[in-house]
Amino acid sequence: MPNSFSQVASITRQARDAANAATENDISTAYEYIKSNYTDCFKDNATMEQMMYYGWLLEYKYVGNPEKEDYCNLGQDAEQLVKYVYRGTDTADSDHSKSNIEQIRKSIDAIEQAKAAAAEQAAAEQSETSNSSDTASSKENSRTVYVTKTGKKYHYANPCGKGTYYPCSLAEAQSRGLEPCGKCVLR
Ligand SMILES: [Zn+2]
Repeated sequence: MPNSFSQVASITRQARDAANAATENDISTAYEYIKSNYTDCFKDNATMEQMMYYGWLLEYKYVGNPEKEDYCNLGQDAEQLVKYVYRGTDTADSDHSKSNIEQIRKSIDAIEQAKAAAAEQAAAEQSETSNSSDTASSKENSRTVYVTKTGKKYHYANPCGKGTYYPCSLAEAQSRGLEPCGKCVLR
């Protein structure tokens, strides 16, 4: 005995009602479920019902959202794939089913590529951040310190002790072999 249209309609309604409140987590669960089960989704009613529910959830959540078009398409493909077989008006190995499975595979590829690109982007931003800490240390090298004509130390304080102190850059003081002063630099 095939399933009825009203059973399908009831799953559609549940997904539509849940879509607005669906969180990123719910969407991720729906996506992973479809991805893991679409090649073997006709094995029982429970799997077909879950596929349709998640398919409509993605579709209702993202319909009209160009940034999430891949998810919307995937959802549509998933519910289209299952609902006719579920009602017994199509078969699992028909051309229609096969072409829908192919569509789902393409949508998943597109989503995975977008995810990889986003991860790459995040990694690039991460390395930009570490470049800016290089900039911070070169700023540190150019900070001004104070030296005397004969002293073996460089100082932050001016004056630190007796004598006449001249400003120079930290990098220059280090290149002249001067050591940090124990009183004002290393304290
Ligand atoms: Zn000093």
